[in-house]
Amino acid sequence: MHDRERQTAARLDRVLAQRIRPALYPLRNPLTVTAWHAPGEPVAVDHALAADYTAFEPGTPWGPPWSTTWLHLTGAVPADWAGRHVDVLVDLGFTDSWPGFQAEGLAFDALGVPVKGIAPRNHHVPVAAVAAGGEAIDLFVEAAANPMPMPGFRAWPPSPLGDRATAGTEPLYRFAGAEVAVRDEAVWHLLHDLEVLSQLGGQLPPGQRRAEIWYAVGRALDALDLHAVNATAQAARDVLAPVLARPAHSSAHRVSAVGHAHIDTAWLWPLRETVRKATRTFATVTQLATEYPELVFAASQAQQYAWIRERRPQLWQRIAKAVADGTFVPVGGMWVESDTNLPGGEALARQLIHGKRFFLEAFGVETREVWLPDSFGYSPALPQLARLAGNDWFLTQKLSWSAVNRIPHSTFWWEGIDGTRLFTHMPPVDTYNAELTAAELNRAETQFADAGPATMSLVPFGYGDGGGGPNRDMLERARRLRDLDGSPAVTIRSPAEFFAAAQEEYADAPVWVGELYLELHRATYTTQAKTKAGNRRSEHLLREAELWAATAARYANAPYPYERLEKVWQQVLTLQFHDILPGSSIAWVNQEAREAYARIQAELEELIADAATELGASAPAVLNAAPHARDEVIVVPSGAGQPLPGGRYAVWASAPALGIGAIAEYAGPPATVATTDAGVVLDNGVLRVVVDGDGLITSAVDVHSGREAVAAGQRGNLLQVHPDHPTNWDAWDIDAHYRNTVTDLTTAESVTVRADGPLLAEVEVVRVFGASRMTQTYRLAAGSPRLDVDTTVDWRESEKVLKAAFPVGVHTDHATAEIQYGHLRRPIHTNTSWDDARFEIWAHRWMHVGEPSYGVAVLNDATYGHDVTRGPGTTTVRLTLVRAPHSPDPHADQDVHRFAYALLPGASVGDAIAEGYRLNLPLRVAAVNPANPPLVASSQPGVVVEAVKLADDRGGDLVVRLYEARGDQAAARLTVGFPVRAATVVDLLERRLTDLVVADGGVDVTLRPFEILTLRLSA
Ligand SMILES: [Zn+2]
Repeated sequence: MHDRERQTAARLDRVLAQRIRPALYPLRNPLTVTAWHAPGEPVAVDHALAADYTAFEPGTPWGPPWSTTWLHLTGAVPADWAGRHVDVLVDLGFTDSWPGFQAEGLAFDALGVPVKGIAPRNHHVPVAAVAAGGEAIDLFVEAAANPMPMPGFRAWPPSPLGDRATAGTEPLYRFAGAEVAVRDEAVWHLLHDLEVLSQLGGQLPPGQRRAEIWYAVGRALDALDLHAVNATAQAARDVLAPVLARPAHSSAHRVSAVGHAHIDTAWLWPLRETVRKATRTFATVTQLATEYPELVFAASQAQQYAWIRERRPQLWQRIAKAVADGTFVPVGGMWVESDTNLPGGEALARQLIHGKRFFLEAFGVETREVWLPDSFGYSPALPQLARLAGNDWFLTQKLSWSAVNRIPHSTFWWEGIDGTRLFTHMPPVDTYNAELTAAELNRAETQFADAGPATMSLVPFGYGDGGGGPNRDMLERARRLRDLDGSPAVTIRSPAEFFAAAQEEYADAPVWVGELYLELHRATYTTQAKTKAGNRRSEHLLREAELWAATAARYANAPYPYERLEKVWQQVLTLQFHDILPGSSIAWVNQEAREAYARIQAELEELIADAATELGASAPAVLNAAPHARDEVIVVPSGAGQPLPGGRYAVWASAPALGIGAIAEYAGPPATVATTDAGVVLDNGVLRVVVDGDGLITSAVDVHSGREAVAAGQRGNLLQVHPDHPTNWDAWDIDAHYRNTVTDLTTAESVTVRADGPLLAEVEVVRVFGASRMTQTYRLAAGSPRLDVDTTVDWRESEKVLKAAFPVGVHTDHATAEIQYGHLRRPIHTNTSWDDARFEIWAHRWMHVGEPSYGVAVLNDATYGHDVTRGPGTTTVRLTLVRAPHSPDPHADQDVHRFAYALLPGASVGDAIAEGYRLNLPLRVAAVNPANPPLVASSQPGVVVEAVKLADDRGGDLVVRLYEARGDQAAARLTVGFPVRAATVVDLLERRLTDLVVADGGVDVTLRPFEILTLRLSA
């Protein structure tokens, strides 16, 4: 019997390809097509409609990479087609490959209103949407000649197509024609009957059901006259009807299918193309819902909605109606589907705030699920932030890409660093781009890891990554799979309906504690180092801008720049999209990111300067945006302090936390440089560092502990170069084998004393490797426990990674990394496959390794990638500074990079927290009146103020976000710099949760470990 089934399947394949599909549109009339090739970048519709069109015959090549051609389609629907299903069919020269990675189009009516996207596997425009029977057809199609800069989805070989400067001008496509055609409804339905049954028959184990399916398929083919398919299609359907009518088993796995189109906000296309991708997809979906009203389409990323609202008002109206109808469902509640490893704590909060608020204001919809199918690992800070923004659920998919280990659950409670739990689902179908095939549904059922206590999983269906979304075929399959014997039962419904039902059924789901680490794409912590530096700098400038603008508003009655801050925040949030900040996009995107960061920084510097002016005084003062008080050396362009090379001066300054301080006289021990037999010794009475003739650190002893930080016989700040040839995904991956080959940069071109006290001791080291040059300045300031390593790397390597190693003389089995709103301890041994797979990790401003009473921190101001390894009595912390992958950006990272990192011997975790802020928030000199007290002060160094701003409702209240940073329950008194009438605990969207008692100008709070608290303070 089995052979007979195979024969039937092969027979069906041929009949489908050669007889049934060709019979789908039995009546066809060509349309008249003219074209206008838009010069340069996309133009407005009005402009395009008024352009000069010329004849455009089928077979004409068109479309240099990234260009746009407008087509004008005209013709008529013959009167005798009235009452039939009539489509316009447009073939831009599509290939068989995935939609969203080749030519795409958007159809407009003659008035310039978007009708529907034109894509492979979805290249029709229903005539019902544009003309009644017998009426003229008058359509425009904006055709985008998008290239594929990563052919075959392999991140190699390098492609020139991702940059307009190198993409060339050869046309990529050949226009295949446009016609108006009648669809034969019986053939259409027969096609889907046969596909659904044969796919199911291909998945079932041997048995009664499989046999009857193949038997019925064979009989249906017998009933079909291959010379008269249109006339006999219904007879063939009649044979299949009873087999399609058998209901699903009562124990069938229950699939919640939701229409979806993952649209990468930038990736193998620039941001401007994403605006068009979202337009095409959303036009397609809102049109499809008129034919299939059961459709529920979920779309995340408020930024994409905002683009439509701003630029496509007619489509926006359609979306708003579809949201009201329930066919279009905003999900995710984030500004974009961001990376969650690299964005800072406040930025991750703002992703949730700006996303969620957009959906609330635009549609009155409160999203309750965080929707991140594709980001490259998930920070354990996310559960608390998600809940504080009013979310209950989390969906992801990407962890199924992990190379070694599998999370043992499909549905589980995910517990973050503070103990908050978030109900989480990882669709076992293992894709966010499903087509609702039987193979996918079978996979969803067999890979569902919680099938004993739970019965349901979610299947996002629709073409994604490059957009596209669901099509008619998927919805026809869904209709047949609702209740079909042998298949999981498929119900189209919203993610919220799925989550509510899944949680009710499985409230006692197991718990996964901590990081959801992706065992892949570990180089995304490092690739495109300038983007990383731009993000870090922008986040800290935003903190400063809000703090000083709020201070100026409170004390000087200055207007608070709400609009400008909101706009800059949204730009920074967009750049945190999971292919921009991770560095996995084409050159065009990376170039735009660098330009955007430069604009953002200029704008924020202006906002800070404006606030300082409002707080102005004649004498220079210092602004300290860090959450702890500080007394330290700063470098100024002029002054009475220690002269430095380049016409600068070192002076001493002192400032309260979050407040305004003063330049002062320094009376403590000097920082000095002495040349000895052992090398150059930098000493400030707090820290004593020896740099040898190779420019490497042989000793670092802090006076307080008296202990040597550098591991015996080793040298610190050793730059190391490894070949970096990942097997699959050049920009994304660093593979473990990179460690097997290394070049230590032990030779210095020069070691030069640049400054010798009393306030700064500086030694510059220059190294050359290949065509690259590294200039590093060791800087020890008077009174400071921290040795800074200011670094400039002129990086001209190819497929190599540069690391800086600090072998530390401590014995430990774990390392602590700063993450958003707290820190994370990770094992650094390789006992289990899980530990071994974590050979590259991410951290924010610091890593700390230590024993109970002694530790060492390595700090940075722009670096995220790290690795930590161990030997007897040695723990080596390395920063991953810069790479040079070739795809999708062929010249990634070949540039001049400037950043700083630092060594902090004898550091507790608390010290690391404070110095991490200081390194990233240098004191700022401005003519500001120091009589203004800090707006807010915490009595407890472990209770850290992260954000100070005015309330988003623009009512003038002060909003302060703080958190417990050390992992220790803490009580603190928060003192406010102005008379407070009321204090309220609010959620991230600044909605009231509880009231606090105000006493003596402040409030008392108690925070559990890593708890985040947002307070609203009214004057
Ligand atoms: Zn993606």
